[in-house]
Amino acid sequence: MITTHNLGFPRIGARRELKFALEDYWNGQLPRAELTALGARLRARHWAGQAGLDFVPVGDFAFYDQVLDMSFTLGNLPERAQGYGGDALDNAFRIARGRSVRPAEDHGPCCGEVAAGDMTKWFNTNYHYIVPEFTAGTRFTLDATRLLEQLAEARALGVNAKPVLIGPVTYLWLGKAKDHSDRLALLPRLLPVYAALLEQLAGQGVAWVQVDEPILATDLDENWRHAFNLAYHDLKAVRIRLLLTSYFGPLLDNLYLAAHLPVAGVHVDAVYGREDLQPLLNLLPAHKVLSLGVIDGRNIWKSDLGSMLDWLEPVAARLGDRLWLAPSCSLLHVPVDLASETQLDPEVRAWLAFALQKLEELKLLAAALNEGRGSVADALAANAAANQRRRTATRIHKPAVQAKVARIDASLGRRASPYATRARRQAEILRLPRFPTTTIGSFPQTAEIRQARRQYKSGALDEAGYQAVMRREIARCIRVQEALGLDVLVHGEAERNDMVEYFGEQLDGYAFSQSGWVQSYGSRCVKPPILFGDISRPKAMTVEWTAYAQSLTAKAMKGMLTGPVTLLNWSFVRDDQPRSVSCHQLALAIREEVLDLERAGARVIQIDEAALREGLPLRRSRWDEYLRWAVDAFRIAANGVRDETQIHTHMCYSEFNDIIASIADMDADVITIETSRSDMALLEAFDAFRYPNAIGPGVYDIHSPNLPSESHIVDLIEKAARRIPAERLWVNPDCGLKTRRWDEVLAALTRMVAAARVLRATL
Ligand code: GLN
Ligand code: ZN
Repeated sequence: MITTHNLGFPRIGARRELKFALEDYWNGQLPRAELTALGARLRARHWAGQAGLDFVPVGDFAFYDQVLDMSFTLGNLPERAQGYGGDALDNAFRIARGRSVRPAEDHGPCCGEVAAGDMTKWFNTNYHYIVPEFTAGTRFTLDATRLLEQLAEARALGVNAKPVLIGPVTYLWLGKAKDHSDRLALLPRLLPVYAALLEQLAGQGVAWVQVDEPILATDLDENWRHAFNLAYHDLKAVRIRLLLTSYFGPLLDNLYLAAHLPVAGVHVDAVYGREDLQPLLNLLPAHKVLSLGVIDGRNIWKSDLGSMLDWLEPVAARLGDRLWLAPSCSLLHVPVDLASETQLDPEVRAWLAFALQKLEELKLLAAALNEGRGSVADALAANAAANQRRRTATRIHKPAVQAKVARIDASLGRRASPYATRARRQAEILRLPRFPTTTIGSFPQTAEIRQARRQYKSGALDEAGYQAVMRREIARCIRVQEALGLDVLVHGEAERNDMVEYFGEQLDGYAFSQSGWVQSYGSRCVKPPILFGDISRPKAMTVEWTAYAQSLTAKAMKGMLTGPVTLLNWSFVRDDQPRSVSCHQLALAIREEVLDLERAGARVIQIDEAALREGLPLRRSRWDEYLRWAVDAFRIAANGVRDETQIHTHMCYSEFNDIIASIADMDADVITIETSRSDMALLEAFDAFRYPNAIGPGVYDIHSPNLPSESHIVDLIEKAARRIPAERLWVNPDCGLKTRRWDEVLAALTRMVAAARVLRATL
């Protein structure tokens, strides 16, 4: 018999109940007891939703973040958070957000404020975790309360619980040593705490523990591999069965290591790491369980159960009881329930599976393997029929789009002349001063804008009324920018709710869910658009707004677009063709928009690639392939313009050093990047690599309400000018201004423009 299990369930709630409760609690509007009670209700509901699986995860629930919870379990709190008078949950909120709760009666800052912990992306997902902090002196102490309580809670509900932990090696890897000490040196201190934790679970009669070690899907050096050996040989003394769990990619060169650690079973990602299967079948010792993550935990498509069974049946015959089946990773990365999607186009809906539907697929697979396909013939037939319709749907497959992609050749991505020639022509037309000033695109999204959008969507405001509000906003933005003395203006993006959704809504091949929310961090969720079909652009998307804006000013107006790689990386993307193909389709659609903008008179066009870096594969060996098609896609989108048209791109991060050559390869005339928070540390990348085109290193952090000082800005650009010739430097903020208030924006930009004047006079 095959065993089914799940690795983790989304905890935010099908209607984002946890989000709203957390925010109310933080604002002092929800009593603590109600927040805790909601947590218990959500856990119970989610366990009920997983009924019918042989093992159900426990300990995957977190009010804020599972890595932060693990830090509490291990007694590893940053020094500044120790000795807090309140309880662990409030302390967790303090570490995550800088404060716990604002009491209702007191609207001043709450007592117990503390610097918030660093947050970073969970591998190659859009989930962010709170980075554990270490020093050479870090000690660990066990606090198993949370886990044991949830275990008892699950058992009281009759759940066959499998506790979930982040493994010791991955836990160390995820953290940062604040004093730059070697965090692996902490392993000998950490292991006894894990051993004690496992002992406690064994004492509760727990059969299996899922130990997540996803770093096995990354490049590990000898020290980290050695740490795996140390850790698991040490923990083998505990009499409990461990399921060593990896996901998000293949084990590759870590496969031998993973197969031979002294654990009772191994889980691998059989969606994004299928190539591991054969070698594992050959290498895995005969007493070990092999759990295959066959259902995609990162995407929302119905599985093709028939073809999955084709390859699983021989594996099942070979492994017998040793075969377990699961989703590829925790279902944290997909929305909860497709049943809430009443508005979604029924044809598209029939191709989708959210978390609950994925678990049904898992049970179907197990039934088909345990009792034969005939036992679930109807369900398999329905699945096959849906997938067959998807394979042939005219909504998806557009020969005209495919033909265009097939015709792509290198010339599409090449500008007519090299940068130096273009720069000269552009300078003649644009007549910009040295250190030209600009912004990244958006201006504050005021309450008035949001209200107009809501009313327009609900029908309370008609097209003409909505247009009027947006035009008024655009006009205001331009007046303000002219008064400030900025050099290249933007229209302010008032009409955009989101830089991906806005374009997705206007492209053919995209669909939108109503409540397909996925947790991004804490109470923050995103609702990625669904890229289901071949992409085309029925008509111009931004030209009217940009042309209107240009009509109001003699200064250059920057047309503003989201790039193909960012559209791709922030969507749920179809899995029936390589991502590179979808990306090239997006690139062709954006290219048409770029050319339309140019035809309408735009002299400067910015194509944002905010998410280019986060698409990097976990394995270095696969970076080149990704960067090749991603950079290609950008070039196709951008480089059809005349020499005279200036192309900008924007990226909101500063870790450039390892991909700088690819960024240069995009050949944008100007790139704006985030640098102020790293105090221009990023510019070190430019010591080793001579960036050939113009660059606007962000001079102040738009995420903070703090005002930059004029001298600080001058100072930053002077630093930059030591690496990049002054005539190729721009002056701009780190990112768009939509989350700031107008008064903050005015004050900050006034200083920025003044700083540029100082630079022109002195440098
Ligand atoms: N043009 C966008 C804006 O200003 C860019 C946002 C981003 O990079 N995330 O809002
Ligand atoms: Zn940005």
